[in-house]
This record gives sequence, structure tokens and C-alpha cells, in this order.
Amino acid sequence: MKRSCATIALVTLVMPFVEVAAAQTVPLPRPRPFSNSETAPAHTAAPVPKATPSPSVCRLRLTPERAIAPSVDDIDGPGGCGGADIVRLEAVVMSDNSRVEINPPAVLQCSMAEAIANWVRDDLAELAAFNLGSRVRSVRNYASYHCRPRNNIIGAMMSEHGKGNAIDVRSITLVNGQTIDPTDVHVAREFREGWKKSVCARFSTVLGPGSDGYHENHIHVDLMVRRNGYRAMCQWDVRMPAEPKPESAVAAVTTDATAGVPLPTPRPKVGPKVDPARGRK
Ligand SMILES: [Zn+2]
Repeated sequence: MKRSCATIALVTLVMPFVEVAAAQTVPLPRPRPFSNSETAPAHTAAPVPKATPSPSVCRLRLTPERAIAPSVDDIDGPGGCGGADIVRLEAVVMSDNSRVEINPPAVLQCSMAEAIANWVRDDLAELAAFNLGSRVRSVRNYASYHCRPRNNIIGAMMSEHGKGNAIDVRSITLVNGQTIDPTDVHVAREFREGWKKSVCARFSTVLGPGSDGYHENHIHVDLMVRRNGYRAMCQWDVRMPAEPKPESAVAAVTTDATAGVPLPTPRPKVGPKVDPARGRK
């Protein structure tokens, strides 16, 4: 009995150590991966990514092989200006991987940027090479997205520029260093005629010299959608330099002046009156 009591006392003393030792050798369950319905502990929680809309068909087509045109945030401007699917067109990438810079980069709807990229790749480059003997280095962007009424006339309809659906081109620069102004009467006429024909085929509005008095030094193009099947607007007088007067005309002027008959001063050509609803875009 005495031995039993001693044994019990010994077991009582030893057991806690046995339990500790046993606990140390029993493997712990491996942590389970968290399912979607479970919440990870705070220390491993990853930020939930913001839902992003799927890219537009245009966005998928306008790849880095065709244009350097990163997407930018939607624009929510005053008075309905702005829109979605906006890009910043920085350069058009040609089939040989060379680039035509858009200077400064143009903020445009993707569809408009794609149309410009296609025009530069498929029309402008060939026109310049054929008529001017050089490749194009850059296109001078005079205006792209700009929240304003047409022709900056207060109360007029919103310009297509306000939707990022228009661009004004001031000039292009060639690889040989020349700057070519499409409104310059001294630039090869074939080149300017080709430019006009190509943009009028691609865009729904083209306004240049002779259109409304607001486009004497640049070319406006946009993709305005017209209702009721309205035709595209293609208004650009590809002018020639003023021709010198023939000698007979000079002689006639001299004779009239000698006779004291004043001739009327030729009036500068004035464009048609601007209808604010249909004027410059
Ligand atoms: Zn414009």
C-alpha cells in the first residue's frame, strides 16, 4: 500500500511533463488555403482589386503595334463634355516599326484615335513619300479634346472637340526637317489634294481654308454622327498661289489710271456667314 501511494505520487508529479512532451510531438494541422467565401486574417489580407470595365473593341484593336495610345480616365466635363474610352495618342506606329509622333499628344476617343492612326499609316505616309519625297516624322496637333462650344461662340452647340471626337492638324514635319502646312498654297498641290481626298473619305467632317473663316490655318476633322442620313461635310478649298497678272491687264490698268478712272480696290475673299449651329467644330 505504501508502494502504491508512492507510485501515485510519482505519476502525479510526472504526468504534466509527459503531456507537454506529447503535445510537442503531435503535428499541428496544416493551414488550409482560404476559399472565396472565407475571410483571410488581417495580416495576410490582399487589397480587393477594383472592378474595371472590359476593354472596348476599339481598345483591343489599337495595339502597340499600331499606336502608342495609353488609355486615360473617363472625362466627366461640364455641360456634357467628355466621355469614356479615351486615349492619349502619342505616336502612330508604322508597319516597319518606325513612329510618327503626335505633337503634342492628342486626347481623343479611341475610335477617333484609331481613325487618325489608320489615316497616318495608310494615307498620309504614302502621300508624303510620293509627293514630297520624304517620310513623316510628326503631326502637329493644334487641338484635340477641348470642352468648348463650336468656334468658341458662346451659346453654340458643343464642339466635337468637347467629346474628344475631333482633331485640328496644323502641319506635319518630315524626316528631312521640312515643316509642311496643308493650308500653304505653295505646298505641292497634289499633296494637298491627296490629303483632302483621303480625310474626306475617312471622316464625317473636314473643314479647311474657305470653309467658314475659322479654318484658314489648320484642317479640322471629326467623326460626328449626323442624323437623318446627312452627308459628310467636306469643305476645303485647295487654293493655288495668286497668278501674276498678264501684261495686257497691267497695261489696261495703267491706261485707266492715266485717264483718271479709279478702279475699285479688289476686296479680300470673305467666307460664307457662320451659322453658329453649323460653324466650326
Ligand atoms: Zn477643330
